[in-house]
Amino acid sequence: MSSRSYQGRHYAGRHRPQRRVRPPRALSAGFVLPSTAAAALVVTATGATVAESAQAPSFDLTGQQSQVARSQEAAGEESATDIATRRQDAQMASSAIQGRAEERARAARAAKRKAAAEAKARAEAERQAKKWVRPIDTWNISSGFGWRWGKNHDGLDLAAPTGTPLYSMSKGTVLSAGYKPSFGYKVEIQYWDGSISWYGHMSRIDVVAGQSLVSGQQVGAVGNTGHSFGSHLHLEFQQTTSHDSPLDPVPWLSAKGLY
Ligand SMILES: [Zn+2]
Repeated sequence: MSSRSYQGRHYAGRHRPQRRVRPPRALSAGFVLPSTAAAALVVTATGATVAESAQAPSFDLTGQQSQVARSQEAAGEESATDIATRRQDAQMASSAIQGRAEERARAARAAKRKAAAEAKARAEAERQAKKWVRPIDTWNISSGFGWRWGKNHDGLDLAAPTGTPLYSMSKGTVLSAGYKPSFGYKVEIQYWDGSISWYGHMSRIDVVAGQSLVSGQQVGAVGNTGHSFGSHLHLEFQQTTSHDSPLDPVPWLSAKGLY
């Protein structure tokens, strides 16, 4: 070999061309699947195994493959929508249950308030019924309890014109109502606390034995019947129903705030 001709090993043409690395066919652009594979993916698209398809290698998608992918994506969105819908339904059902519970609670509170108001009204009515009042509006004592005319006067005499209304002094029951020679027209009342009053010399009786009375209810009128000299109420208090056991009216009336 001549020196002219020698050019060492660095002859350009001798350079071994770099080996071109080709991508696998499967990954190259524009790759078209064999018809069987395409058919398999279409089948997948129409329904069955999304997971299997998801594991399929990533291709540059042809139109058909894009359709498959879109279908899968759509299926995913549909599932998400379903889940959201179910979640919303569950929330609505939960809200409805909570709403009904709150409605029941409100109704219970309203019933409780109503019951309390009714109880209060009953208590007030009872208090009013049991209130102590005077038997006669005009309080004019003409004779007191004690010794008079050689014997004890067992009550208070309250002077008033004939026909003046007489009232029950509180809630009670009529023990007797009728005419007695000495008392004339007389009404006996036992009150809710057990105490007993007699009204004598009445001109009229408006109640009957056994009748229930409330405070202030009219039982008759002032008169001058029986052993009486002038129109007045003879007011007497008894300790028991069984025998004549008069009480001094003044302490009794004072205790009730009426004297
Ligand atoms: Zn008297």
